[in-house]
Amino acid sequence: MTINCIFCKIASGDIPSKKIYEDEDVMAFHDINPSASVHFLIVPKLHIDSLVHCETHHQALLGNMLLLAPKLAKAQGLVGFKTLINTGAEGGQEVFHIHMHVLGGGKPSKA
Ligand code: AMP
Ligand code: ZN
Repeated sequence: MTINCIFCKIASGDIPSKKIYEDEDVMAFHDINPSASVHFLIVPKLHIDSLVHCETHHQALLGNMLLLAPKLAKAQGLVGFKTLINTGAEGGQEVFHIHMHVLGGGKPSKA
């Protein structure tokens, strides 16, 4: 675990999340500030800063994250969805623990 990484803390259970999926390597939880009616994040438990920091031995992990997206999207009631991986501060990344956004269902309903 990387100290002071919010997604490592979520993965270890130190910080709560609205979890929708977990296995040995990956977890998924609803984004705290959703940009769509359904907006969740697929996050590896292993700390990797960003897509730039991925290497060949991360190939299976990245593939698993991609293959999980349609399964979880369907479970959330989505027929279609967008996936997004922001990379680097200039790419809009704010949390430097790699994650994939999955978004669908139109605009978020106001609380
Ligand atoms: P990014 O800009 O790609 O790094 O996206 C980071 C995302 O993490 C943003 O959409 C945030 O709303 C989301 N986020 C930050 N903290 C939390 C948290 N504790 N639980 C769920 N989502 C979070
Ligand atoms: Zn981390």
